[in-house]
Amino acid sequence: MRPTQTPTVILRHCDSYDPERIRVLVGEALERLGLRPEGRTLVKPNIVSAGPLFQHAFTRPEFVEGVLRALQDRDEGKMTELAVGERCGITIPTRRAFEGANYNPMLERVGVKRYCFEEEPQVEIRYTHPERLRDYVFTPEPVAKADFFVNCPKFKAHPWTTVTFSMKNYIGIQDDRHRLIDHDHRLNEKIADLQYIVQPRFIAIDAITAGEGRMLTPIPFALNMVIMGDNQLAFDAVCCHIIGVDPMTVDHLRFAHERGFGPVTLDKIKIEGDVTLEEAKARAKGFKVGLIRVEKYFEGTNISAYAGPPPENEHTDYCWGGCPGAIEEAIEILRLFDDQLDQKMPRIHIVFGAYQGPIDAKEGERVVFMGDCSAWKGELKNKLVSVESLYKDRATKDPYHAEHQDIFAKMASVLAKVKLSANEPYIRFEGCPVSVAEQALMLVFAAGAKNPFLDPRESVAFNKAYLQWRGATAMKRLKGIPYQRPGAAARGEAAPEIGPKPTQADAE
Ligand code: SF4
Repeated sequence: MRPTQTPTVILRHCDSYDPERIRVLVGEALERLGLRPEGRTLVKPNIVSAGPLFQHAFTRPEFVEGVLRALQDRDEGKMTELAVGERCGITIPTRRAFEGANYNPMLERVGVKRYCFEEEPQVEIRYTHPERLRDYVFTPEPVAKADFFVNCPKFKAHPWTTVTFSMKNYIGIQDDRHRLIDHDHRLNEKIADLQYIVQPRFIAIDAITAGEGRMLTPIPFALNMVIMGDNQLAFDAVCCHIIGVDPMTVDHLRFAHERGFGPVTLDKIKIEGDVTLEEAKARAKGFKVGLIRVEKYFEGTNISAYAGPPPENEHTDYCWGGCPGAIEEAIEILRLFDDQLDQKMPRIHIVFGAYQGPIDAKEGERVVFMGDCSAWKGELKNKLVSVESLYKDRATKDPYHAEHQDIFAKMASVLAKVKLSANEPYIRFEGCPVSVAEQALMLVFAAGAKNPFLDPRESVAFNKAYLQWRGATAMKRLKGIPYQRPGAAARGEAAPEIGPKPTQADAE
């Protein structure tokens, strides 16, 4: 896990999504780094959201095709499986994301297996490092059993973590129910913890068209580069330097550095390739990262946002990893589906954390308290109101009992809540975090806007993928799948156990 030699980051010029060109660049990098795939080889792209409306959010299939073909070229007969695996975001079945990102014909053409991580058995991983947020987490079996893990992220800004490069791409190595645990004001620590599950042997980022400003609906930014490396932290540090961000200001990188995952300073990293660091910086000049507080984000719109500190405010005074960032992504998604959204939106006030200031709500204007930790006391529409924090300590959240939240159930419950509270002084949404999907649905129902989950361009494909996903997981539960804990063979442990350790969530 810890680097044993000076990490190398290779910067190559590439100005088109030509799989053959990418294959050559990746093949040369693998050769330079002395890497050949072996055993179960798993490629993890970033397909957090996909489809024509999200075309700059995901690692392009042409890019992954080049990587896969280069891995095949480098195989000396030791590779037992070559697969691509992902868990996309925002409650969409990963099947749909693979389809929307046009991966399926490519995977068939190249002849590799596809894993939708939420459909695979989830394997318990024990953490023992002193800084851990919890003692165990779950990850999909293909990740836990990968012998040669290849990370293929997209070069993007991120509204919660400043950037999403290689380390942040690990959010997609958990299914939704486990991903949402600790996806709050300690998100950066969660990402640093996930690094203990597996480290990539090789990283190749799609920086041909990067995404600035946001992560689900980023603005395209031509960087015209393929960046590759053999140490995840050094790799992300160089990407930060390219866009003029000090890696030590990106908390998940800082935590990983403090835990010994690699260097962040340029004197400890070899940088090679046909693009110099200075040239890469010149290409990235003006690249905008995320990290905008929610109050500022909604300035000039009909939404007034108010944010107080989250619990454990000794760690931070703002929840960068949870509800406030989720609503920023939610509104951007809705704007893609409904260009009249901002005109339709009535005046609405949304409160996060333990906010203590005034809420300037007039008669008829909705007030929403978002998330378990929201709390406030004062007068609302001539009524005295006391909203108490419902926050539960993270120690009470056991990954064994994490439950999947079905999108159709979410839709029904958010609609009921919005309707039932029409004459109440406020609405309370519980959860830590309240997901992007729920916040998007709240805004849809409050504004009478178009519902992206029912959009005719999406709904048939979405429903088909949803039913296939639920059917596939039901079949797997019935069959029982053999698995082995990560590192078990190296520890000399006996044959694989039969069937994933059952969880309440698996039993749904
Ligand atoms: S309830 Fe939301 S805002 Fe509060 S700590 Fe949890 S994720 Fe953050």
